[in-house]
Amino acid sequence: MDFNKIYQTVKEEEISNRMVKHSTIKSLVSKLQSDFKVREIGQSVLGKEIFSIEFGEGKRNIILWSQMHGNESTATAAIFDILNLFSSQKKSSLISGLSRDFKITFVPMLNPDGAKNWTRVNALNIDLNRDAVAKVAPESNILWNLIEKLNPEYSFNLHDQRNIFNVGNTNKTATISFLSASFDETRSMNSDRELTMSLISEMNKSLQEFIPGCVGRYTDEFYPTATGDNLHKLGYKNILIESGTYMKDPERQVTRKANYIAILKAFVVISKGVSTKYTKDYLNIPNNSKKLYDLIIRNIVVELNDVKTSVDFGIMYNEKPNEYYSEMIKHSKIENIGDLSQFIGLEEIDAKQTVFNDGVKKYAVLNQVANFKIGENIIIQNGEISKS
Ligand SMILES: [Zn+2]
Repeated sequence: MDFNKIYQTVKEEEISNRMVKHSTIKSLVSKLQSDFKVREIGQSVLGKEIFSIEFGEGKRNIILWSQMHGNESTATAAIFDILNLFSSQKKSSLISGLSRDFKITFVPMLNPDGAKNWTRVNALNIDLNRDAVAKVAPESNILWNLIEKLNPEYSFNLHDQRNIFNVGNTNKTATISFLSASFDETRSMNSDRELTMSLISEMNKSLQEFIPGCVGRYTDEFYPTATGDNLHKLGYKNILIESGTYMKDPERQVTRKANYIAILKAFVVISKGVSTKYTKDYLNIPNNSKKLYDLIIRNIVVELNDVKTSVDFGIMYNEKPNEYYSEMIKHSKIENIGDLSQFIGLEEIDAKQTVFNDGVKKYAVLNQVANFKIGENIIIQNGEISKS
């Protein structure tokens, strides 16, 4: 089955951007009927329902959860695309085979309060991905109880990463980053890590056809209280997928499709049996680097105290939906000033040695809002470019 080809027919149209509401999740799960078992598996601190959606009748368990960090919704959208595929293609040999052999459990939006507040943490400001040991948050207990009950063969922890990440030494965005987490300080290997690394290599191969060069590897530094690290410590195989940016894709809809492609590929490989054949290929996936800015202004002249010099600005956006979740409100900041020749902008402007002017002064300070003029013609208004 060519997942890529049929994507447009299964893409969940109720979700068209990152601003996924809990009410949309509720409405979507209420429509999932005969092909799935939907359960309310608990509630968030503020009483919002957390759902699990089961597909298949088999004995082998796989579990995936998204939005453990509330403002990281890309994979939630991909989960509903995959569910639509399962429904519409249930008679195909591939999907009916998965249904016979596996029980695949999805938990979309594990942290609905964080999603509402558009923040990583839950309503008590707890980071659920640093709560794997103490489990002080109710949402952590909901997830861990389910994992213990299912004893999954593979688990997938689905996140988003900031726009700052590119792939290795390239100018490619880290649209997807993978991690097989460490289970100790020395980043030891064991057979579970080898299997997850090999599986990631196969997912990477299918992604290279869709987003060539845009796959990175996340640091495997050991985090003693993180989810993946503790899953590996306890003998559960886990794969972390971090959704990142792609050029000209602020709503991460290309990244959403990349999740769909990678996760379906994983299901196919797991159903055939994961070998350690591709473990070493994992190490050939370049590490993430931090060389991206949302906007770079190059060759802009700043002036102070008779010193006049040409610099670059690195500008980042901080975004949050408005209260109706109808629009992303952007806050832009100048985060770096100087020679940024080693950095890449998702968008770039060459100021061609024209002088900076923010109406008050002819030089910028770090963290100031990106409101200024470049020469006479270009206006930057809170990071948005317009020409007069
Ligand atoms: Zn995250």
